[in-house]
Amino acid sequence: MPSEFEIIRRYFSRPARHAVLGVGDDAALLAPSPGMELAAATDLLVGGRHFLPGADPRLLGHKTLAVNLSDMAAMGATPRWAMLAMALEKDDEAWLAVFSAGFYALAERFGVDLVGGDTTRGPLALCVAILGEVPAGSALRRDGAHAGDDVWVSGELGGAAYALTDPGDAAAARRLHAPEPRVALGEALRGLASAAIDVSDGFAQDLGHILESSRVGAEVRYALLPRHRIADPVLERRCVLSGGDDYELVFTAPPAQRAAIERLAGEPKLTRVGTILAGAAALRVLDERGAPIAAERGYDHFAP
Ligand code: ADP
Ligand code: MG
Repeated sequence: MPSEFEIIRRYFSRPARHAVLGVGDDAALLAPSPGMELAAATDLLVGGRHFLPGADPRLLGHKTLAVNLSDMAAMGATPRWAMLAMALEKDDEAWLAVFSAGFYALAERFGVDLVGGDTTRGPLALCVAILGEVPAGSALRRDGAHAGDDVWVSGELGGAAYALTDPGDAAAARRLHAPEPRVALGEALRGLASAAIDVSDGFAQDLGHILESSRVGAEVRYALLPRHRIADPVLERRCVLSGGDDYELVFTAPPAQRAAIERLAGEPKLTRVGTILAGAAALRVLDERGAPIAAERGYDHFAP
């Protein structure tokens, strides 16, 4: 049976490439680049709540980091350093080896160093904290949208939520279990987008956060929304407007930036879906005939 220190040494101690000091001391030492601000975020995944206890450990390693990389993308920040705090029910080495491989595969793809963490016994929970860098003053915040701006969406919406109802849809399952954080897009949107957020709790709710922070409204045409293919139209609306976990970016930008934004489109595709309006922070989603669609609220852990 490996000790806590053996677990850390075997599975979570790959050398850090961009840190003064990584795993192994009481704290990591990091040297931010001159002229950059640090973007910091953390996300906690709890077994039985965010994932099933039997979930594939490789996908779990991917997703615990991916959701944090997505927060960096939504800020326009370049992710650099991650910390991993974990509560483990048992020291299952096969599980740890595969979890660690999934985590590092994504970390290495994005040039992120795992520089520390904490390992303890307890009900399975995985918490990543991430630090990224963004040129001072150029982060993509939620409070910068203005009346007249376009509303844009990357990729497609609804796939992750649909995966919960149709386990046979492989593309939807990938969206749910192996989300692709839109880091390069977030970086490219610095100086172009006026506000941005990543879709973790559902399009309507997450765009709603931009509207509240920016004190503006928005009108979106449902028919323009890029949608995962779902046969049942009622289910489709629910997944597209209120389904979470897609980790696409929703962002706003002045019409003068349309050509520059269209040049960024490719993988993922970028779709213009509506307009920011002056006035109350309300979202109107219109159907083909121009009639408003009522969107259910997105995911809220403390909703009654
Ligand atoms: P301390 O007792 O000072 O908190 P720990 O024994 O918890 O130190 O951790 C030893 C080192 O291993 C520290 O550098 C810590 O950041 C790192 N570490 C612990 N758990 C993890 C983990 N799951 N992933 C990455 N680094 C970890
Ligand atoms: Mg510790």
